[in-house]
Amino acid sequence: MKYKELINKMTLEEKASLMSGKDFWQSQDIERLGVNNIFLADGPHGIRKQTAAADHLGLNPSEPATCFPTAATVSNSWNEELAEKVGQYLGEEAVAQKVNVLLGPGINMKRNPLCGRNFEYFSEDPYLAGKLAAGYIRGIQSHGISACVKHFAVNNQEERRMVIDTVVDERTLREIYLTAFEIAVKEGKTKSIMSSYNMLNGTFTNENIHLMKDILRDEWNFDGVVVTDWGGSNDRVAGLLAGNELEMPTTGGESNQEIIDAIKSGKIKEEVLDECVDRLLELIFTTEKAFDKEHTKVDLNEHHNMAQKVAEESIVLLKNDDNILPLKSNTKVAIIGDFAKEARYQGAGSSIVNPTILDNTLDCFEKSGLIKVGYEPGFDRYGKKDKKKIEKACAIAKEADVVLLYIGLDEVTEAEGLDREGMKIPENQIELLDALYEVNKNIVAILSCGAAVEMPWIGKVKGLLHAYLSGQAGSKAMVRVLSGEVNPSGKLAETYPLKYEDTPSYKHFPGKEVSVEYREGIYIGYRYYDTANVDVLFPFGYGLSYTTFKYSDIKVNEDRVTFNIKNTGTVGGMEVAQLYVGCKSEEIFRAKKELKGFTKVFINPGEAKTVTIPFDDKTFRYFNVKTNKWEVEEAEYKIMIGASSSDIKLDESVKVIGTGASLPYNKNMLPSYYSGKANDVGVKEFENLIGFKVPDSKWDRKKELGYNDTVAQCQYAKGGFARFAFQMIKFSHWFLRKIGKRDTANMIMMSVYHMPFRGIARLTGGIINMPMLDGMLMIVNGSFFKGVNHLFKERSKMKKSSKVKLIIEQTEEA
Ligand code: BGC
Repeated sequence: MKYKELINKMTLEEKASLMSGKDFWQSQDIERLGVNNIFLADGPHGIRKQTAAADHLGLNPSEPATCFPTAATVSNSWNEELAEKVGQYLGEEAVAQKVNVLLGPGINMKRNPLCGRNFEYFSEDPYLAGKLAAGYIRGIQSHGISACVKHFAVNNQEERRMVIDTVVDERTLREIYLTAFEIAVKEGKTKSIMSSYNMLNGTFTNENIHLMKDILRDEWNFDGVVVTDWGGSNDRVAGLLAGNELEMPTTGGESNQEIIDAIKSGKIKEEVLDECVDRLLELIFTTEKAFDKEHTKVDLNEHHNMAQKVAEESIVLLKNDDNILPLKSNTKVAIIGDFAKEARYQGAGSSIVNPTILDNTLDCFEKSGLIKVGYEPGFDRYGKKDKKKIEKACAIAKEADVVLLYIGLDEVTEAEGLDREGMKIPENQIELLDALYEVNKNIVAILSCGAAVEMPWIGKVKGLLHAYLSGQAGSKAMVRVLSGEVNPSGKLAETYPLKYEDTPSYKHFPGKEVSVEYREGIYIGYRYYDTANVDVLFPFGYGLSYTTFKYSDIKVNEDRVTFNIKNTGTVGGMEVAQLYVGCKSEEIFRAKKELKGFTKVFINPGEAKTVTIPFDDKTFRYFNVKTNKWEVEEAEYKIMIGASSSDIKLDESVKVIGTGASLPYNKNMLPSYYSGKANDVGVKEFENLIGFKVPDSKWDRKKELGYNDTVAQCQYAKGGFARFAFQMIKFSHWFLRKIGKRDTANMIMMSVYHMPFRGIARLTGGIINMPMLDGMLMIVNGSFFKGVNHLFKERSKMKKSSKVKLIIEQTEEA
């Protein structure tokens, strides 16, 4: 232990006090020993430092900070260096705001297009997500502070996120859901990691020894700090045993006492605590040094310009019929759509940033060389029908050469804490498009949203640019792409299916009660569509440019692949070349191809460049559930270079010597996995894959409710009061939606409906403690008077003991 001497000077109480927050955002300090507190703040695409009222849902304001494009946007850049730059800028602002730990990036896989937080995550592919995340982390940590990669792990739905049990097989876990984290730890060298709210195969991730010890610490050699997600600690002692150093936010000392009691009773050894303290001290002492240096003031204009550059590289051109784009100078444009006036530039929830500047699309046209014939909102942002708005929009559309139609999803639809209800954009936007199409066929749609949407309307637009959620400078970036000042080079980091029903997990998303079964196994995103031959709207890795590229001359060596790309068009542009690998043997079921490398190159018109993509430890590996190790199968492999996952330009075969491990599966027991038809997997076959019986996914409606049951389950409670309260909550939710207050209705879902009772104690900073919660549960379970009595008794006990504590502290100080 590095800080043994210092730890020896600490009392047991002092050591335990470090294991949970001092308040909502800070860790505890020990003044007498020179241990300072550290500040943790969201988030992934800009600093959300709250100095007044604190919350983890993005409700209260934070200090202004540059709002960069969200991760779902930056991933379209496929540019690791750019990701590192974003990290550097974030790190610089974090240091200026005295933030020791930046709570990001979020790198969960996009298992399903409806996950409410997809806008915060990178990709459906672990390699791409991992590489970009490692860039962010390197950038953030280059300033001496810590990134905190999150949410570890398999946190892929928002519904019941604090309790849902994810049932997943070991190979899928390793290959799909953990690989990005592995890269973030090994290559990004993140100093901290946030455990997720959910369970993994029956155990909360924060307490899951297999995840937290066997994999994170022993295999990946992670020696940093594990922080819980806010209110995510279930059993503090079990968490400590699994290596969770810091529980956030404060529990008013309650869970520290649980640690002390466990040590005193001999349940756990004091050394377990000492080791956690040691790792936490390392984080405190190293990150606080970042504030020692004299820092010049952050140049917020420069940061704004950087946010614009990042957005420019991340915009994806999805359609360009008749080369309608770029728009020629002096083109008369009608700007239509509410999103042009008030940009959709970030999502809702804990990642929300209070931007320093916010570009407005209408202003950005001023020096663009385009002639604005007018602006009309055309539709109501929150989906209400408005014929007049459509008529007004059509009137200006008639006057224009080209209609620029700004559409997408509103901020209430894409929010942390709840999943989307469907993949469509609002009906009133489609009605507007239909009407515009009748008066002007030259329509370019500019789409703003952080996740995949269905596009049955695509035939009515000639051009389509996807902005995703492009941050505070995104509007300017988009105008520069429209006018051709910037040649788009983004490519999709997720597949766009034709319809939601085509997605591999649609029958098993979200888990609604106890668990969610990852029946599709390794077949997420393009791995599924490609292998099962399901047509898609836009494949993974797809994106157009204002120029064209020709690929040639592939050469495969032992450790790399080399090829040429020539810019065959008339303007300079960047191309993202993607390396996919497929195994020709059919002994182990696999996706037809998997991304194993990528590179982005700028090429002038007429110029050709030789490009090399190296192989690495992940190029040929698969996780063998029999040997419980990464292995390589001896076989012939196809090395493919593509402009997207379905546009393979070059390929070559190589023979690879394997590790000689015995094959892990019995083919006959896994027919759908071997055929790739992951949508057909029945429960028996899934059990064959996971190797155990699936838990009952339904609530036991008769049992008494406990700490980990949610408010939603009060509908089955024995206590009439609880059932009544539930109906009131349900009614308020319905009523708020009815009167158009969807954001407040969402809040009810996020912070009340899906909240486990435990969360009431863990998120109120000790105002309600666990014994008081016991009283509440008595009420819920039908013992009303006993419960009320217990609640008040415990409340006054708590008040008394905090008074006693205060007197002791004051006497000690005196
Ligand atoms: C989110 C985390 C976030 C934390 C603090 C939680 O609700 O899941 O991503 O960092 O709140 O705001």
